[in-house]
Amino acid sequence: MITVIFKKRNFERKVLLQKDVLDSIVSYCQMKHPNEGILILKGKSKNGEIKIDGLVIPPFNYSGPTFAGFPHSFLPFDMSYVGIVHSHPSGSAEPSVTDLHNFFGLVSLIIKSPYNDESIFAWDSNGNSISLSIV
Ligand SMILES: [Zn+2]
Repeated sequence: MITVIFKKRNFERKVLLQKDVLDSIVSYCQMKHPNEGILILKGKSKNGEIKIDGLVIPPFNYSGPTFAGFPHSFLPFDMSYVGIVHSHPSGSAEPSVTDLHNFFGLVSLIIKSPYNDESIFAWDSNGNSISLSIV
């Protein structure tokens, strides 16, 4: 029981997403609709707080109505890559088993249709929700 409490405390994280970055995510995913869109999140992580302040279009990315991805081996090693965001053109904003298998970085954002401020959610590598604030 004690370990569970410790784990929860250590992994309490918070995501701060810049409004202009959110707007770019929204337009990119609307453009990709009805296919999924995928983008790399750039930012900084400090004391469990992940601040997202930029986006990168992944090289060689591929997508369809129910999947999106990119070969991680083509990515340059970059400490400012804090995670990925991808869209769910239909259904919920919960991560699928495939999403968790392809987890990259510290946080995974999922935005569902219709793409707006209320349809974006943050998840950790275990599929637990992380609090997300737009700043
Ligand atoms: Zn997904």
